[in-house]
Amino acid sequence: MPQIALEQRLEVRFSVLPPLALYVHIPWCVRKCPYCDFNSHERAEALPEREYVERLIADLESLLPSVWGRRLTSVFIGGGTPSLFSPAAIDDLLGAVRARLPLEPGAEITLEANPGTVEAARFRGFREAGVNRISLGVQSFDDRMLGALGRIHGAAEARNAVDAALASFDNVNIDLMYGLPAQTVDMAGADIGAALACGVPHISAYQLTIEPNTAFYRRPPPLPEHDDCADMQLAVEEALAGAGYEHYETSAFARPGRRCRHNLNYWEFGDYVGIGAGAHGKVSFPDRVTRHERIKQPRDYLAGTATLAREFTVPPEELPFEFMLNALRLIDGFAISLFGERTGLPFISVVKQLEEAERRGLVQRDWQHVRPTERGRLFLNELLALFVGGGNGGRESGVPVALRATRTSSPAER
Ligand code: SF4
Repeated sequence: MPQIALEQRLEVRFSVLPPLALYVHIPWCVRKCPYCDFNSHERAEALPEREYVERLIADLESLLPSVWGRRLTSVFIGGGTPSLFSPAAIDDLLGAVRARLPLEPGAEITLEANPGTVEAARFRGFREAGVNRISLGVQSFDDRMLGALGRIHGAAEARNAVDAALASFDNVNIDLMYGLPAQTVDMAGADIGAALACGVPHISAYQLTIEPNTAFYRRPPPLPEHDDCADMQLAVEEALAGAGYEHYETSAFARPGRRCRHNLNYWEFGDYVGIGAGAHGKVSFPDRVTRHERIKQPRDYLAGTATLAREFTVPPEELPFEFMLNALRLIDGFAISLFGERTGLPFISVVKQLEEAERRGLVQRDWQHVRPTERGRLFLNELLALFVGGGNGGRESGVPVALRATRTSSPAER
């Protein structure tokens, strides 16, 4: 066999499988926000709560043969707006999950909630159902910005929701956005100040981006200039650092000990099963890594007998890119040993690309660790391009799948 063929063949071999998490997608919202490209749909009259939970359970059961004997390290109920479901429905769901897949002791169980759909009693109900972390889609504490974003809540409702969440949960995330229509740097600074005043242990701060298939894409609002957005990002990062929050991922900030374990599992390229309309998953086997997608339209998901839309083995040469796409979002980068543990590939398969990344000033490395430099984080696309298609650069293959995988976690944090 020619030498070149030997060099190119990558084989996946796991001695220990990665940690396993569960993502549950609930696809309904009160109203569709004009910037949102997630699989979320305006609710009709009554939500088909019972039917949907039954479908989720059937969906999970269909996945069980692929994850026998494994334990869940975290559960994330995202959407959409999962807080539209009653505590009783969430209780049924989590009870069914526990009966089918053992949870690690103290497993993180997050539920995404939106102001305007929750009050104190509802939070208490979620707590009693076993939820131990709440992620609140606040987005802004400024009524003008909330109006421009088409949110169903105002600033007062946002504050009430945060207070009500903190009365039942000590682990609460707030999603905040900057770079909003007609927002100034001072307004963004005031917003982060308001978020800090709430005293939550975790804040996710994102710049608004205009995505295809959204109302904002068809009718773009007046957005701040690029330089202003960069200043807003800096102001947000400085305010959070000054208040003792650790910046641990591109958009995530946490008080010590409060990093989101579920999202860390994505960024560290762990496994996860995804159930619910349009949910994605990634499951490793001793000799391969697979991905699955569930049927996207809630109506079809509820109606048919099958829930699986697509399942495939990830080509081994795409795994380095997928790993880097996630792990290089982490401010501290990753331990070299993690690459083999999570891709099943030898580290040697990415050494050349990392040498090139180091030469360009995009990463720093020692014999134990790889860390993106500030330049690497700023030019993440250039850094990631080195790993596309096993390092030959420029090929698009693998990008959409991996991006979606990341965003499967993030909807719940946005
Ligand atoms: S941004 Fe959140 S609340 Fe708005 S439509 Fe999308 S999922 Fe629903």
